[in-house]
Amino acid sequence: MGTPAAPDRSRPSVLVVEDDDTIGRHLETGLRGNGYTPTWSRTGTSALTEAARRAYDAVLLDLGLPDLDGLDLARTLRTRFPDLLIVILTARTDDIDVIAGLDAGADDYLVKPFSLTVLLARLRAHLRRQTIASPPQRPLRLGDLTVDMTARRCTLHGTDIPLRPKEFDLLALLGRHPGEAVPREALMAQVWDENWFGPTKTLDVTMAGLRRRLTQAAEASAHPCRLPRITTLRGHGYRLERGA
Ligand code: CA
Repeated sequence: MGTPAAPDRSRPSVLVVEDDDTIGRHLETGLRGNGYTPTWSRTGTSALTEAARRAYDAVLLDLGLPDLDGLDLARTLRTRFPDLLIVILTARTDDIDVIAGLDAGADDYLVKPFSLTVLLARLRAHLRRQTIASPPQRPLRLGDLTVDMTARRCTLHGTDIPLRPKEFDLLALLGRHPGEAVPREALMAQVWDENWFGPTKTLDVTMAGLRRRLTQAAEASAHPCRLPRITTLRGHGYRLERGA
């Protein structure tokens, strides 16, 4: 596993899931020519694989795919990648389908045929809102632990805990979703982003390291310490307990 490339915030990455050659090529060319980094998947299965390989900023999802149901795919993507922007592309104009798409976890939809200009305007608006909504992030308070994402510091009663970069990312990600079961795939995709493909043993090793460093810091502290409890969900992932 090499050093993950930092995501290029100036060229947002967009996963295009579209089986139609003409539309797919049109989107790929249009996005690339307008400051985005597109990746084109022609099937639902390959889109799932691709989405787990790197942390995408947005997905454009055609509902009529050859292998998977588009709504099921939207639901799966939403579960695995809670922060991902999902825009559904649909030829179905019934309100009921649009509602089903939004219920499945999509953030927005466009009815085909749509113009590239409208698509780009929607993407811009959504991604700008995300940028405003996320950083600068307030430090997380997890028991007596403070996790400051902006400064990348983890402190216990004010004393720094020297976490490795991936241990820090893992703690910060779980800490942003207290009480929620976070699947292994989501952790791998968001903490190790595009360099991950395959076994997830590295996640267990990193989690063991994180737990060890937190315990050692608590033992070394002069004060009684409440540490966040991270529960292992066998075969699924991890959950940082709410109120820890
Ligand atoms: Ca289609």
